[in-house]
Amino acid sequence: MPEDLVNGTSIEKSIALLRSLVVEPRQYGHLFLVGVVAHIVPPTGAKGLNLAASDVSTLYCILLKVYREGRRELLERYSPMCLRRIWKAERFFLVDDQPAAPLPRHRPVRSAYPAQ
Ligand SMILES: Cc1cc2nc3c(=O)[nH]c(=O)nc-3n(C[C@H](O)[C@H](O)[C@H](O)COP(=O)(O)OP(=O)(O)OC[C@H]3O[C@@H](n4cnc5c(N)ncnc54)[C@H](O)[C@@H]3O)c2cc1C
Repeated sequence: MPEDLVNGTSIEKSIALLRSLVVEPRQYGHLFLVGVVAHIVPPTGAKGLNLAASDVSTLYCILLKVYREGRRELLERYSPMCLRRIWKAERFFLVDDQPAAPLPRHRPVRSAYPAQ
């Protein structure tokens, strides 16, 4: 019964800062960034693992075609394909997720490094 419950002492309270980061582009020559090294999404959407797995799946499909069919031009598509997906997710966190989050609004920071 709820009235029988004894409250314990709260031993720790902290607020985790929500932040977002998107690295563009996700390719530098033959280096391809996948998962959290290329994006950070707030934990409230529980999408981090799915986004990371989608990066791997996309790169796997592209590499398969590169090695089996010699279609090297597909390598250039990896970064835009992933970025379309990640920005959709970031927009989801910004727009749909905010009412549930009583913390200050967070905005994704776009990080870029010089093109090769
Ligand atoms: C507490 C918590 C709860 C989460 N809950 C969810 C959830 O409910 N749903 C969801 O979708 N996502 C969730 N996530 C996010 C999800 O775990 C991550 O987005 C996902 O694991 C990212 O995968 P990744 O492969 O990019 O990176 P990681 O899983 O971090 O894998 C990187 C690996 O590289 C290894 N490594 C690092 N440096 C080196 C090195 N120099 N040499 C060799 N290996 C190295 C690390 O040990 C690690 O095993 C959660 C994350 C946390 C922290």
